[in-house]
Formats: sequence, C-alpha cells, structure tokens
Amino acid sequence: MPEDTKRPLVRPRVPAGPGQQGQKSIVPPIPNQHNPQARHTGFVPVPLEEHPKVQEALRQQQAGAGGNGPTDPPFVNDGRYTLLTGLPSNYFEYSFNEMWIRPFTPNEARLLHMARTSGNLTYVISAVAACLSVPVGRLLIEDFEFCMYWLRMQSYPAKPFNITWTCKEDVIKVTDNDERPDVEEICNFENLTTVGKTNLIVDSFVQRIVLPEGMAFPTMSSYEELWSIRQRLKVLEKQGRLESEEYDDIVGDIYLMSIAQWIKDGETMTDKLDILKAAPSMELQDSIEAAVTKIPEFGVSEDLSVVCAKCGRTSRRRLSLDYLTFFP
Ligand SMILES: [Zn+2]
Repeated sequence: MPEDTKRPLVRPRVPAGPGQQGQKSIVPPIPNQHNPQARHTGFVPVPLEEHPKVQEALRQQQAGAGGNGPTDPPFVNDGRYTLLTGLPSNYFEYSFNEMWIRPFTPNEARLLHMARTSGNLTYVISAVAACLSVPVGRLLIEDFEFCMYWLRMQSYPAKPFNITWTCKEDVIKVTDNDERPDVEEICNFENLTTVGKTNLIVDSFVQRIVLPEGMAFPTMSSYEELWSIRQRLKVLEKQGRLESEEYDDIVGDIYLMSIAQWIKDGETMTDKLDILKAAPSMELQDSIEAAVTKIPEFGVSEDLSVVCAKCGRTSRRRLSLDYLTFFP
C-alpha cells in the first residue's frame, strides 16, 4: 500500500499542546464548538486558510495534484478538522508530525452500528480511519485509543459515558461477639456509574523511546488480528470449551503474539508471529521482553473517582476501553 503518499500535505506551525510539555499532561475536556475560547486549552486548531502551505496545497488540489485516498480526507479546506496535539506517542514514532481529525458523520455512525451488531472490529477501525488525515494502520494502539476518546467526546457531547464496575473495597463487618475478630469482606457490588465531565489524563512520551534494532511499537495494522483472536478465546470460554485443542492453540498463539507484535518486520500479525516462531533460539524473545519492561506506561486513562452505591466508599477507576461498545 503506498502509505507514504497519504501523508498530510501541509505542516503548519502550531503552539505546543499539553502533551509536549511533559508526562501526565492533562487534556481538558474537548472544546465545545460554541465556545471558541475553550479551544485554546485542548486540541489546538489553527486558522487553516491563512497558512501559506495550506494555500499551496489548496492550489495543488485544485490543479488535480491532491490525490486523496479513502483514508486521507480533503481536510485542508474543511473547517470540521482539528489538528490533533497531545498524542500519547507525541509523534515520535511516525514519519509524519501532525494529524487532523474530524468528528463522526452518519456514515461513520452506520459503521459503528454495524460493528456493534456484527462484533467486527474492522468497522470501528474504518469509522475512525474515515475521520483521520493519516492511514490508521500506522497509528500506535495508544494513539488510536486517544483518537477514540476524542471522537467519543466530540461526536457525542450530550451522551456521557456509562460504566459498570465492581467495588473491590474491603468492608469490615463488626461482629457482636468480642471474642471473635472483626471480619473483612470485599464489597463486590456491581455499580453502574454515569461519567460526566471528567478530564482525560494522557501519559505522553516526553522523548523518543529508542527500541532495540528490529523492534517497533505495535500499530493498528497488526492489532486487529490480535483482537480477533482474543475475541475467539472469549467465545470458547463462554461455550465452556476450555478443554478443546483450539483453545490451547489460541492461548499459545496469543502468548507469542504479545511478544511478536513488537517485531518490526512483517505486515500482519501472522507475519510477525511466523518470524518469532522461526527464531532458532530464545534470543529474540528474550530481548523483546527485556526491552518492553523498560518502556514507561503511556496512553489514555480515564481517571475517575467513583462512589460505591452499596458501601459508600470512594475508589479510583481506570477505564478499560471496549472498542465495540465504546461509542453510543
Ligand atoms: Zn462497595
């Protein structure tokens, strides 16, 4: 795929976003379109039309030299697009140093509905891809998820997140009998919490992480495969087929894939898995595992303070993102 031809045509200079300033940058809620002031605090838009390079790109497009592919929307003269700053990767891993994003349209809502109905992640990825100025397969998984949060908040501002979570707080049950010690129990109450305006906390790379030769950060191009096989495992678990040969095979492959996804060579996850399986010794696997443990945690987390409806205790939750049901 000639991905390099799909890179953005223009690179206007923009002010550093929150992600450029250091770790644990807090990205404020995504700006409301009706509140232009707020736009300066989060994802920083630039006046597109005024930039000379944009003008040049526009002229080229009008002359038929644009060559936009399906994942490269004509964002240049489209006011819906915002320059995305504060990516978890801070663009350190890409050959491009900016990307543009727009909210969903009914076309993408259709794809998301298809994803929910069919359980097929490809539709979610396609919906996100349609809103980006760069090929989605090139994105690090953490950056993709960052885009998902952006799209969730920007496309559905009136629909808050609903999360379910189980309270794991210890509750001390006081016994009437003085001779017996008080009993500690885990609350285990299933809570349904509506998340209102919360701040996304994004752990971004402060500097480029140099990986050993032959390694690269996992991208969306191979992630889909890993996701599908994990889904298959869940299906087998639901069916109670834990004794089956297929189950054992998948468990083994997932184990190796979690390592193989860090291999630079190979277009697909299967390619990468084959490379790892063909290794004549444990050297490759060992070196990947050793390198991965040194990488600081990065990506989007939703820092929430939630109160259990049963025991009333407060705990902090980190949202896990379910790709299929994330969008309303
Ligand atoms: Zn509780």
